[in-house]
Amino acid sequence: MSNKTEKTQEAEKLLRPCVKALDEILGKTFEVFDDGFIRVVDYMGSDEAIVQAARVSYGKGTKKVSEDRGLIRYLLRHRHTTPFEMCEIKLHVRVPMDCWRQWIRHRTANVNEYSTRYSIAIDAAQRTPPTRWRKQAPGNKQGSKGFLDENTGRMLSEKEREIQDLSRQVYQDRLDVGVSREQARKDLPLATYTEAYWKIDLHNLLRFLSLRMDDRAQVEIREYARIIGYEIVSRWCPIVWEAFLDYEMERMNLSRLEIEVIGALGHGDKERATELAKQNGWLEHGEKGLKRNRERKELEEKLERLNLPIPWKE
Ligand SMILES: Cc1cc2nc3c(=O)[nH]c(=O)nc-3n(C[C@H](O)[C@H](O)[C@H](O)COP(=O)(O)OP(=O)(O)OC[C@H]3O[C@@H](n4cnc5c(N)ncnc54)[C@H](O)[C@@H]3O)c2cc1C
Repeated sequence: MSNKTEKTQEAEKLLRPCVKALDEILGKTFEVFDDGFIRVVDYMGSDEAIVQAARVSYGKGTKKVSEDRGLIRYLLRHRHTTPFEMCEIKLHVRVPMDCWRQWIRHRTANVNEYSTRYSIAIDAAQRTPPTRWRKQAPGNKQGSKGFLDENTGRMLSEKEREIQDLSRQVYQDRLDVGVSREQARKDLPLATYTEAYWKIDLHNLLRFLSLRMDDRAQVEIREYARIIGYEIVSRWCPIVWEAFLDYEMERMNLSRLEIEVIGALGHGDKERATELAKQNGWLEHGEKGLKRNRERKELEEKLERLNLPIPWKE
């Protein structure tokens, strides 16, 4: 037998690497809201696949598990990203269209979406329970904070039901008289559910999770992202997941300016810290006191997290 044939046969004996914890939930439906879901359809790779790929690039073989953990954490910390692209996951998701509109902006995934040109639109729209109507956040135009009272919520939920039922009925009437599906759908609400197969590599999935699990993301997509993270990635690649929480989700970025202010506080020099903040234009006064300033607010949040005083507030 030639060397080449021996090599080929050796390769054919390879077993498909599996992650038992993920195999156990393959196809399982994780419910989201009233009618949404996420389920894992397929996957490739694991923590070990990342280590294996990284060691190929370093020209070294497999080592002990403790060293594997250290390597994964090093790769993630230092943004050596390509080994994470060796892992792929395919999800089947059912998502309200307004949420999907944000989701689909992540261009690095492969997507097949349910077609409402070809098929009748899914007969389900996300409904908001009376206690879940969120108020506009005062300091963040993109966000929400707190909830409306239940009585108002009940009225809003009732109106929601009416408008969703009406738009569905109008859609159905159009289909019944022969309007094409592609045109009949135009007045369906954004709350209508869509379904998709969504495949993405782990590197880009972590980027998605980092943006969409964050408090600044809209509550609805955050809900999906948290399930993908805490229920799926944590089982699939537990070492990566732990490192991701440590080095990405729980990390704190500091700009040069922030480091200078924090450095002054570290020396107990509150006056210098305030002076630096002033120089950076963070402490301008208007008629109603300190003017709003996004960078100052972000630094204040960081100081609170670090248990450091906010000198200009004392
Ligand atoms: C809180 C929040 C608010 C947002 N608000 C708005 C908004 O008001 N309006 C709005 O339009 N969008 C908004 N977005 C969407 C945002 O701008 C991004 O489009 C979205 O988050 C996808 O991020 P991404 O490009 O990093 O992801 P992906 O598309 O998955 O790309 C991942 C990375 O791949 C690289 N990449 C991918 N495609 C290209 C390319 N063609 N060229 C170069 N590099 C590429 C980039 O490095 C990119 O970061 C918001 C997102 C968030 C999280």
